[in-house]
Amino acid sequence: MRKSLRNSGTDSGKKGKKMAECLFCRIVSKKVPAKIIYDDERILAFEDINPQAPVHALVIPKKHISTTLDIEDEDNELIGLLFQTAGKIAKEKGIAERGFRLVVNTNQEAGQTVYHVHIHILGGRHMHWPPG
Ligand code: AMP
Ligand code: ZN
Repeated sequence: MRKSLRNSGTDSGKKGKKMAECLFCRIVSKKVPAKIIYDDERILAFEDINPQAPVHALVIPKKHISTTLDIEDEDNELIGLLFQTAGKIAKEKGIAERGFRLVVNTNQEAGQTVYHVHIHILGGRHMHWPPG
């Protein structure tokens, strides 16, 4: 019940944001433009607007999930597909063999700014460790 309400598009998500106002939901519904590089029934990927590496794309579920802490049992297959799609995109971008980094920020101290789960695909340069 709580779940269907949360995903109905009318209830408030985490951080007081309505899904109608969620930036990435608006990209999913094509109300906000993005350079889309992958689009299927459940997953969307697009170029990051502020790239931190020669390759910097974001892969998101079309379903609104605010953070990794909000992933539910029924989402497990979707999250698996999300990572599989990230790998496919890395191959298409020609960075798979050299290596690339997948980043998922959760909440404030990790630097999450958009509260709709997304995987950053970063590559095309050497990645530092530990990350900043
Ligand atoms: P995070 O800080 O992990 O929540 O990542 C959010 C990412 O979304 C940042 O890397 C931003 O550059 C990116 N971003 C913000 N607005 C847009 C947009 N309109 N289109 C594409 N990427 C965006
Ligand atoms: Zn959203």
